[in-house]
Amino acid sequence: MSLDSIAEVGSAVGEGDRRAVARTITWLESTRSDHAAKGQAILETLVSKTGGAVRVGVTGPPGVGKSTFIEAMGLSLIEQGYRVAVLAVDPSSPVTGGSILGDKTRMERLAQHPKAFIRPSPSGGSLGGVAQRTREAMLVCEAAGYDVILIETVGIGQSEITVASMVDFFLVLLLPAGGDELQGIKRGVMELADALVVNKADGDTRPAAERTLAEYGSALELIRPTSEAWKPRALMASAQTGEGIEVIREAIFAHREALVEAGVFDVRRREQARAWMWSLLEEQIQRSFREDQDVKDVIPGLEADVAALRTTPGAAVRELMAVFRKERA
Ligand code: GDP
Repeated sequence: MSLDSIAEVGSAVGEGDRRAVARTITWLESTRSDHAAKGQAILETLVSKTGGAVRVGVTGPPGVGKSTFIEAMGLSLIEQGYRVAVLAVDPSSPVTGGSILGDKTRMERLAQHPKAFIRPSPSGGSLGGVAQRTREAMLVCEAAGYDVILIETVGIGQSEITVASMVDFFLVLLLPAGGDELQGIKRGVMELADALVVNKADGDTRPAAERTLAEYGSALELIRPTSEAWKPRALMASAQTGEGIEVIREAIFAHREALVEAGVFDVRRREQARAWMWSLLEEQIQRSFREDQDVKDVIPGLEADVAALRTTPGAAVRELMAVFRKERA
């Protein structure tokens, strides 16, 4: 690994070279430790150039129109002169074997645009691992000068919460149909939303969209906003016709302006970065604990003792920590 190539790839990323961006992300995602180390080294050269983009998370139930919406929003942003990167967090991909954005028919127009960069979800591993790599990809895209990063998530399990913790603006797409349980949206997720958007407000489903909008509009009144500076909005759109996209685009920038003005935008970013560091650290500590041979040797016996009530979980943990710290072998 020559420093030259790291510096070279790093400066190419800084100049917005898409191939360098893609290559760096591939290295960061690699399971080969030399490649991953190279990716990390490049990322470190880029860190001062990161943070400039507006980070937007998009979630919603399957079939709500996430990819259609992201394509419409992406093209609308490009029309305004912005460069747009689309990333994803899809922890389900190791199960299905494919990533949600992997399908080439998705976002075809956006994918072909020179001002857009689309990257499918990293595959394999835990939600934490997938999210970590998406966060790093986001930083690479920011260093490359992308102005808006759209992060899609399929909304399975905890992934919406994870995406909400890495973006500035969190957008929940809804179907023109009844309550949140019906849509598989968890209450906690609603509370994180900066905007709820009822999609498919067109044709036959327009009246249902209007009803759903009214319901969510009043539901939002009862939710305490995540920031004093921004009251979450309920909006309506058709990703297919493009109606409503402009209003949502404006809301994203109005939100940023409001948070910057209130002095909380950077505070939130700093908190996110600190939380990210801690979750990374916790994950690594857990991994090194589980991989420790002495710990591995004593775990089956201690588990059996706990199960058979021969010892308490607390005593077993003290023993495990002692073994891990090499106070006892
Ligand atoms: P995703 O699974 O959430 O990514 O949803 P897709 O973007 O793949 O869309 C699911 C289906 O809904 C597709 O057949 C889209 O053409 C359709 N769809 C998406 N947005 C709209 C919309 O605004 N109006 C209508 N009528 N159909 C839409």
